[in-house]
Amino acid sequence: MQGVGAPTAGRVNKAPPQPLSLDADVRYVKGVGERIAKMFGKMGVFTVRDLLMHFPRRHEDRRHLRRIGQLRPGETATVAGKVIVADNVRSPKGSMILTKVAIQDGQDIAYLVWFNQPFLKNVFVKLLGKRIMVYGVAQYGNQGIEIVSPEWEALSEDRDPLSSGRIVPIYPLTEGLYQNNVRRIILGALEKYVPAIKDVLPPWLRTARGLVNLDYALRNIHFPESEHALEQARFRLVYEEFFLLQLALALRKQNFVENEPGIKFDVSVECTKAFYEILPFELTAAQKRVIEEIARDMASPKPMNRLLQGDVGSGKTIVAVAAMMIAIHNGYQAALMAPTEILAEQHYLVLRRMLEGLGIEIVLLTGSLKAAEKQKAQMKVSSGEAQIIVGTHALIQERVEFHSLGLVVIDEQHRFGVLQRAALRQKGWNPDVLVMTATPIPRTLALTVYGDLDISVIDEMPPGRKQVRTHWKFTEDRPLVYEGIRKLVNQGRQVYIVCPLIEESEKLQAKAATELAEHLQKDVFPDLRLGLLHGQMKPAEKDEVMTRFRNGEIQVLISTTVIEVGVDVPNACAMVIEDAERFGLAQIHQLRGRVGRSEHQSFCVLISDPKTDEGRRRLEVISKTSNGFEIAEEDLRIRGPGEFYGTRQSGLPSLKIADVLKDVAILEQSRRDAFDLIRRDPQLASAEHAALRQEIEKRFESYELVAVS
Ligand code: ADP
Ligand code: MG
Repeated sequence: MQGVGAPTAGRVNKAPPQPLSLDADVRYVKGVGERIAKMFGKMGVFTVRDLLMHFPRRHEDRRHLRRIGQLRPGETATVAGKVIVADNVRSPKGSMILTKVAIQDGQDIAYLVWFNQPFLKNVFVKLLGKRIMVYGVAQYGNQGIEIVSPEWEALSEDRDPLSSGRIVPIYPLTEGLYQNNVRRIILGALEKYVPAIKDVLPPWLRTARGLVNLDYALRNIHFPESEHALEQARFRLVYEEFFLLQLALALRKQNFVENEPGIKFDVSVECTKAFYEILPFELTAAQKRVIEEIARDMASPKPMNRLLQGDVGSGKTIVAVAAMMIAIHNGYQAALMAPTEILAEQHYLVLRRMLEGLGIEIVLLTGSLKAAEKQKAQMKVSSGEAQIIVGTHALIQERVEFHSLGLVVIDEQHRFGVLQRAALRQKGWNPDVLVMTATPIPRTLALTVYGDLDISVIDEMPPGRKQVRTHWKFTEDRPLVYEGIRKLVNQGRQVYIVCPLIEESEKLQAKAATELAEHLQKDVFPDLRLGLLHGQMKPAEKDEVMTRFRNGEIQVLISTTVIEVGVDVPNACAMVIEDAERFGLAQIHQLRGRVGRSEHQSFCVLISDPKTDEGRRRLEVISKTSNGFEIAEEDLRIRGPGEFYGTRQSGLPSLKIADVLKDVAILEQSRRDAFDLIRRDPQLASAEHAALRQEIEKRFESYELVAVS
């Protein structure tokens, strides 16, 4: 057996001699045995490359060694001294074992204290008379200066201290791993593998952007020689991370556009005439502008690949209808894909109502249709009888054969990954693709997540909209809130109440909603017509509830976040959100977007007693601003980009070092450079760029970002 010993015990099996490869298993690094390799595995570190890219979370400047005699209480400092005493004592109340270690520096003594780690005594007994370096916060104890639970390291002649006396890296850890350990291991890997590190960035680019070499960058991101070196290292690595991603996106866009000609639609007046005749309202200037942008794309023989951004309620659906009318007029089918069944059904109803008079065949295709219905729908799709097909991801998951798919519209794109987009596209003959999102993604994120798309923005709300008034109430104000609801209902309006979010379980969430609905019906609004909607209901039940709400039969709808996206019932004028602090800001913004859709004044009431400053800040932000972009930026700042950016959401790899908020300038520069380069060397075919091409293929192979040519 191996791997049970001390972390540095090394491995039992000798590694076979082999050329240095960064792809080698992390176990081949000195100090990493089976056991430590497992811990690294938990953090996604499997190879030497992963290890070298296991970047510090931050650094601490511990260059300035203080004398013990100069230490002031409260000061965080590095000191060095000789170990003169090490002992275990009971704490004054006797409840804990304290390990006390005295170190001496000249005439002065400091006491190091640890709680309930009696084994440490022996560690220090062995070090009696030896010098150690210590880093921590000084305070006054009863014997003089104390440092509680410091980081420490024995000083030895044959190696430099890694944890003090320098700018020290602080690594992300996992249970059982220690900073000191990780530092030693990474230093060892750097020393051994530097010759194997190949810099893929071409020299001309490094010169143009002032980027340091990769080996220098790696050395200094871990163990910086100076602050300046650290800055240079980070700049280089952030630039490279963004640049490679943007290059992959540029390449993907390039291949998509050049290699696979799309459909050249006729977009003449003739073809949109019918659309303008059925328009129920005057389009906003922004809507007109984006429809023109889309029509221009559709008229071009290159396939459209466009993202339509517009805040909740800005009127994206009608823009999609315009595009679909063009496709239909040209004899093609159009598909509209929505992230939830409720939304798909709603789109289906809206389209049917709007296009009724024109004799256009619209088909709904969702996973929950009965087998016979589904078959019938699929027949219509494959025969070409269906002109518009509305559905959920069932459209790409099931065996749906389109007759002549010319346009794909994907609603609420933030719910779909890049891969799903690709899958749907493959169903047609390279159809035009329009993705719509109300998630106001900050520009920087849009550039990374949707970097291969062209972007159109609806930056104007339909006229006559009143600002939704947002109020933050404490739970004790609930009776007042209920009174307000009653007043609105008596005026003929309708109301949503969203129950507290329970992320752990759909079942518990459904239960909470059911209980809240029962309570409200029985104890609060016995005379009103209440309805209930949650994710565990059968599609037919959901359908019925939504229909009754739309018809005004249900006055107050108690719901989970299933109504978050897209639901459009203009007469609903108030959105009450229970335990609002549990929701993300972007999510509250989406929910709030369900109201404010008519000429009536609308309200959003957030019920919450937040317990933290951060919670209070979030509620203040959402109460104050209705600008989706500001809210998204704030959300990003609070929750970090991972939430938005993780593979799950976007279908892209997560970033290791770059920060989409802090590094905007570098992102934009690298994007320009990447797209320029692809313009000059479309397939990265030149010898100079072969390494780049290889690196991208390797890095993004599982993301289908790079077409294999
Ligand atoms: P979203 O962008 O959130 O998907 P919708 O397309 O659902 O927004 O539109 C929200 C509401 O605004 C719908 O009831 C729609 O009919 C209405 N609407 C859209 N455009 C206009 C307009 N130009 N004038 C008036 N009402 C509009
Ligand atoms: Mg919508």
